[in-house]
Amino acid sequence: MSINSVFRRLLALQETRVLGVEFFVAAMMICVDVAPRRRNPTCSRCGRRYSVGSYDSDSRLWRHVDLGPWELYLRYRIRRFLCPHCKTVVTEAVPWAEFASTFTRDFEDVTSFLAQQANQTVVGRTMKVAWPTVGNIVRRTVNRCGLPLRAAKLYRIGVDEISYRKHHKYLSIVADHDTGHVVWAGKGKSGDSLDPFLDSLGEEGRRAIRLVSMDMSQAYISKVRERLPLAIIVFDPFHVVKLANDAVDKVRRQQVRALKDKAEATALKKTRWVLLKTPEDLQPWEVEKLSVLAKVNRPLYRAYLLKEALRAVFREPPAKAEKRLDAWLAWASRSRLPSFVTLGRTIRQHKAGILAAIEHGLSNGRLEGLNNKIRLISHRAYGFHSAEALIALVMLCCSGIDIPLPSDQRPGSDPYAIM
Ligand SMILES: [Zn+2]
Repeated sequence: MSINSVFRRLLALQETRVLGVEFFVAAMMICVDVAPRRRNPTCSRCGRRYSVGSYDSDSRLWRHVDLGPWELYLRYRIRRFLCPHCKTVVTEAVPWAEFASTFTRDFEDVTSFLAQQANQTVVGRTMKVAWPTVGNIVRRTVNRCGLPLRAAKLYRIGVDEISYRKHHKYLSIVADHDTGHVVWAGKGKSGDSLDPFLDSLGEEGRRAIRLVSMDMSQAYISKVRERLPLAIIVFDPFHVVKLANDAVDKVRRQQVRALKDKAEATALKKTRWVLLKTPEDLQPWEVEKLSVLAKVNRPLYRAYLLKEALRAVFREPPAKAEKRLDAWLAWASRSRLPSFVTLGRTIRQHKAGILAAIEHGLSNGRLEGLNNKIRLISHRAYGFHSAEALIALVMLCCSGIDIPLPSDQRPGSDPYAIM
């Protein structure tokens, strides 16, 4: 078997001929000369193939997946030609790589698969590629493998914002309650930042949406009322509980400031995590801390009870929830804790949406889990140079994308490659 045939079999590239192989021993590099199987060039803009003469050509290299210790490159003189359809000079498309990429599709698939599962160090070490470059690779993979929005049938969605870059910038995220996947992400946190998503749904898609969950921020509320008038707005329980946690923390800080005694203040500072933790998860010594708190600092303990009582409202059956919430609102308003009086007012204003969340049985866990996952991803995306790359990483890791690996290729799927 000739060396060209050996490499054609090894690489198993679709629609690709192997013309020659060159070894650069000192650099531990192999260059494989390839060409598209079809001789007429394909336009990278419109995808049409024409039998036309080329305008000029230029030798290019594409990095492929390593072969043991060898770095492997594909080499080809890429042609430019005058596309009769686009009526301009275009670069030809090649079957082994995305347009304008210097990596093969196999290389990008493996890199993206790793980025979906592992951190920066693992991806960088395994693929020998810089992290910002991974951002660009992931973007191309998501464009290629991601499900188009129109294909996803959406009935119940959640919209949320996340901050990145030390909280100076924001993304808006749309998730599907039924699959638990992110379906869209875009820059900004204003109502208008949702427009590209809403546009892409089309009239029919917008009418299909029955329910939208969100936090109590006015920007999203107004936008959804304007563009999805048929949808019910509900407020995510985990956002509401988070506001109660913030209120507890405010009370704690006030109490720390008010204390003259240094030792007592320090002891109070240390109660933070106990107060915010779910009681079911408390360790025995933490329960002990709480019972001491009940004796020494009544206001803070009251704040804690208020927070837990609000959490309990979301566990009520829908029929009892309203009564329980009203009782909670009454308690909050006379609690003599300013942060809970304010929270009570906010909740009263948004009561319908909070009760709707209970009525429609929106589970707290799913979107909250997704939220935490996205936060971790945004830390991992630090070092990417664009919001687009972060958006792509979020979509890669949270939208249920299935990336095909080179080893998934069925033998014989491209008879020419195996010949
Ligand atoms: Zn064209």
